[in-house]
This record gives sequence, structure tokens and C-alpha cells, in this order.
Amino acid sequence: MTLEELQSVVYNAGIVGAGGAGFPTHKKLSEGVKQIVVNAAECEPLMMVDHHIFAKHFQSVIDTLNIIMDIMGAEEAIFGIKKKNMWLLDQKIVKSLENTRVKIKEIPDIYPAGDEVVLVYETTGKIIPEGQIPMSVGVVVINTETLYNIRKALDTGETVCEKYVTIAGDVREDITVKVPVGMKIKELFSQLGYEDMTGKAVINGGPMMGKLVDFENDVVTKTTKGLLVFPETHSIIQRKRMSVSTMLKRASAACCYCTMCTDVCPRYLLGHSIQVHKILRAASHCEVNDADAFLQSTLCCGCGVCTVMGCQQMLNPQAISTMAKETLAKKGYRRTESVKPDKPRPEREGRLIPSDTLIDRLGIRKYVKDKVERRYIDFYPDTVYIPMSQHVGKPASAIVKIGDAVKKGQMIAKTDENALGTTIHSSIDGIVKSVNEKEIVISVI
Ligand code: SF4
Ligand code: SF4
Repeated sequence: MTLEELQSVVYNAGIVGAGGAGFPTHKKLSEGVKQIVVNAAECEPLMMVDHHIFAKHFQSVIDTLNIIMDIMGAEEAIFGIKKKNMWLLDQKIVKSLENTRVKIKEIPDIYPAGDEVVLVYETTGKIIPEGQIPMSVGVVVINTETLYNIRKALDTGETVCEKYVTIAGDVREDITVKVPVGMKIKELFSQLGYEDMTGKAVINGGPMMGKLVDFENDVVTKTTKGLLVFPETHSIIQRKRMSVSTMLKRASAACCYCTMCTDVCPRYLLGHSIQVHKILRAASHCEVNDADAFLQSTLCCGCGVCTVMGCQQMLNPQAISTMAKETLAKKGYRRTESVKPDKPRPEREGRLIPSDTLIDRLGIRKYVKDKVERRYIDFYPDTVYIPMSQHVGKPASAIVKIGDAVKKGQMIAKTDENALGTTIHSSIDGIVKSVNEKEIVISVI
């Protein structure tokens, strides 16, 4: 198989990064890659999707790595997994990898080990220059579930129309289930027996980086990895509910400029020039002349360490930095300079955040389980609402119309193969009920 054929299989299967923003995977598969790093860190507390993939489908993931390494001409692949999760791997397979191009790398149990810049450093020793992608140091990072999706596309042409999702937190039972893309989250919880969610809130993603769910309207997408439930009164929910204007007011009154938020920032500790206390100061004091402070927000990965582990004044530098970053991105503003650190700051070693410390600081110890059941439940939604944009780049355009009969797995929307985007597929057999720029609605006949 040629590289172009591989890219085409991945594009036609609609494969995007399964854990983050949903970067179209076919765009990552290119020539010139020296190392493929597998992100098996799953560093946000309570998330357990990748655990199941590498416990149950480790050999498939390794086989896929070998195939794409050959096609891309990569020299080696590095499987970055936390030491505490090594026991999940089939040790016979681990042994069979000795002296091969696939390396298993134990990474420390720190947060955010899964951030691309941190992961690439921990697995390869390379530091990605500021504002650049892993490819700038000859590396491509692929998530475990994404690799598994490539495997299924290569074997059977299976498309991405279902998603593994962990349900955890303040629930009766922690489980990981496979859910049709486009299923309403409210209906999913209802089918799992959670009819009354009064006094609870749901986060899409981990407790650090996840976003509050609009329980009536939000649906499962290709990037939904976890749906975590917490009481409305929990500090995680309270923090995520606070408006930006309140955050800015509180910051202007209470920030003592102690710099502790910057001192613990993982990107700063790897030598990048981000100084989040300056971003917060410039935003909360309207220091519009300090353009560089605002532009530093483009170096932020939104991990939240500054807020949860740094600030003792209960301020939220993460949210303010993210707001500044998103505002600049919409306008297309970028930093022109790019520092290229060759080593981390000397204080990094002493400031790494152990996952256990983070769990205690977040107040979620009682929700943490050693194991999460993988349940094979078939969900049968009557209607799915499939978003046209579940990925980074251009939204897809419909290739079906109202009244069309579609099958599960059938392509229903796509972006041009040359643009940044991907294809989208129906997750049920049914009839197209409506089509607009935002979604395609399909109901069972
Ligand atoms: S969220 Fe905070 S700690 Fe994380 S990268 Fe951004 S500024 Fe640094
Ligand atoms: S840690 Fe809090 S108080 Fe200190 S500089 Fe950062 S935002 Fe301000």
C-alpha cells in the first residue's frame, strides 16, 4: 500500500484524533516522519477508554504501527504509557517487541503527560519549539484509539460512527461503552438508567480540560472520550460555571502577582516563554499595550495546572488564557517568534505534578476506581443528530438530502480531501430527516 492509499483509507473512514480536538488523521500521515509516538498516557483522572483499547487490542495496535511505519518510512515507534498501567499490557507481546522498531516507554505518572509537548519530551527527549507541531522535530503523535480505528479501516473498511466513552464520577457504576455518534447525551444517560439528573452536572472530557455539557442538546461526537458526572456544588463544576467577566473582575482585585501559576506551567517548565501571570494581568487590567502577553496565550495547551495547582487565590488563569487564545485564533493572530529550547528549565524536575496529588487537589479521590468495567451494551437511539464539525478545520458538507435512506457506516458528509477536514458517516440505519450547515438528523424508519 502506498502512502496516498493509506491517507485515502483513513480519510474515507473519517478518522480524527480520538482524544483531543479531532485533528484529521490522514493529514498527520506524511513522509519525513522519523518517530511515531503513541499517546497511551490517558492522563486526565477518571478517563479509561485507552486502558480498554491497550488491554484488549494491544496486538492490533502494534500491527497497525508496523504497517504505517513501513508506509511512512518512519524509523521507530514509541508507545508512551504510564508506569502504573504497564500491567495492562500483554507481557508476551511486550517481550516480543524487544530489539524491534516498536519501543515501550514508561512515562512518569504526572499530569499532563498526554499533552503533546510533554509526551514528546518524555518519550523522545526532544522539545517541540514554541507554537510548532511535533512534525517540526520529525515526530507524529497518534492516540491509541485512533490507531485502533486505522486498524479497523484497513481490515474491513469500518468507518468511525461509534465512539468509546467512559461514564464515571458521581454515578452508580463506572463503565466504558460504545455509543453511536450523534446520540443525545441525555438519551444515553436515560438508557443507562439515569433518568433523574437533578443537582448534577456532566462534563465532556476530563475534570481538568473537559467542558460542561448542555444536557438537553449535546450529542456524542468522534472526540467524546468521557462523560463525567459531579454534583452541581462540586468545586470543579462551580469553576467551570463562572463567567469570564466575573473571573476577570476577581483577577483584577485578588491577583498578587506571585507567579506561582507560571512556576508550575508544564509548557513554561519545558522552556517555552509562556508566563500566564502576565496574560492574566494584561487581560484583567486591560493592558492593551502589552501585546506580547496576550500573544503568549497561543502557547497555552489549556491543561489547567496553573489554576488547580498554582493559584492560591482561587483565580482561574487557565480560563483567561484560553479565552485570549481563542480570541486571537479567530482573528488569525499568531506569535512570530518561536523559542527553540534544547533543554527544560532546571526547576522542572521538582515541579512535576503527580497524578495522585492532582486527584486530591481536585477533591475527586472518592470517584477514582482502579478498574472500570467495559460493557457491551447496544444502544438504539430513535434519532441521531450528527454534527458537521467534529474535527479541526473546515466543517463537512452534506452529500445526502432529506428523505434519503442511509445505512449505518455510510458516508453522509465530507470536506474536500485536500482541505483540512474529513468525512462523516451515519451511525444508524434510517431516513434523513433534516440537513443544515450544523447537523444531519437521521431517524429510524
Ligand atoms: S493552562 Fe495554565 S498551566 Fe496549562 S499551559 Fe496554559 S498557562 Fe500553562
Ligand atoms: S498564582 Fe494566582 S495570584 Fe499568583 S500570579 Fe497567578 S493568578 Fe495571580
